[in-house]
Amino acid sequence: MPGGAGRLFVMTGPSGAGKGTVIQWLLERRPELAAAVSATTRPLRPGEIDGREYHFLSEAEFDRRVAESRFLEYVAYVSGQRYGTLREEVDRILAAGQSCVLELETEGAKAVKAAVADAVTVFIAAPTFSELRRRLVDRATESAGEIDERLELARRQMTEASSFDHVVVNDELERAVTELEGLVVAHLGTIGTLNRV
Ligand code: ADP
Ligand code: 5GP
Repeated sequence: MPGGAGRLFVMTGPSGAGKGTVIQWLLERRPELAAAVSATTRPLRPGEIDGREYHFLSEAEFDRRVAESRFLEYVAYVSGQRYGTLREEVDRILAAGQSCVLELETEGAKAVKAAVADAVTVFIAAPTFSELRRRLVDRATESAGEIDERLELARRQMTEASSFDHVVVNDELERAVTELEGLVVAHLGTIGTLNRV
C-alpha cells in the first residue's frame, strides 16, 4: 500500500444501521476522503450503477480476482453472495493523497484491521434492534427472507461492537455524521480542516 498522509477508515456494523447514508454525508463534508468501490456478486438494486455502488461481478470473475490476489479481504455474506475490497481501489485513493473509507460487514472490518494495523475501525449502530428492523423494512431493498437473514446476522454483529476502535450510534443522522466527522478529523490531525463546512 503506498505511503503518504492518507489513512484507512473502516465503517462497519449491521445492515440497515445507516452506514451507507452516514458515509455519503461524511464524504460530502470531507473532500479529503474517498470511498473505495467494493466488488460483489449480489444483483444490482434499482437505482444502482455498476462501478458506482459496487463493481458487480459474476461468480467466475470474482473467483478470478481472488486467484489473482486482487482482494485485500473478501467474504460470503447474505445468501452466499460475495463481497470484497479491491486492493487497486484502496491504492488509487491513497496514491491520490486522499484517505480511504471502506464500508464492510464485521468480518471484513476485522480482516482489514489485521492486515493494516493503523486502519481506524468505526462500528455504526442503530439506536435499537426494532429501529434497525424498521429501517430495513422501510428501505425495502431485500425480500422478507433476506431481511430476516440480515437481522439474524445483526444480532450477532451488535455483540461485537466493542471490538472496534469507535462506536457511533446513528440515532439522529446529522448528529451521528458530526460525531463521525469529529473522529475522522481527530485521526487526520490538522490535515484538511480548512475544508470544514
Ligand atoms: P446500511 O448501509 O448500514 O445497510 P443504509 O444507509 O442503507 O444502511 O440505511 C438503511 C435505511 O435507514 C435507509 O432507508 C436510510 O435512509 C435509513 N436511515 C439511515 N440513517 C437513518 C437515521 N439516522 N434515522 C432514520 N433513518 C435512517
Ligand atoms: P449490501 O448488500 O446491503 O450492499 O451490503 C451488505 C453488507 O456487505 C454490508 O454490511 C456492507 O457493509 C458489506 N460490504 C460491502 N462491501 C464489502 C466488502 O468489500 N467487503 C466486506 N467484507 N463487506 C462488504
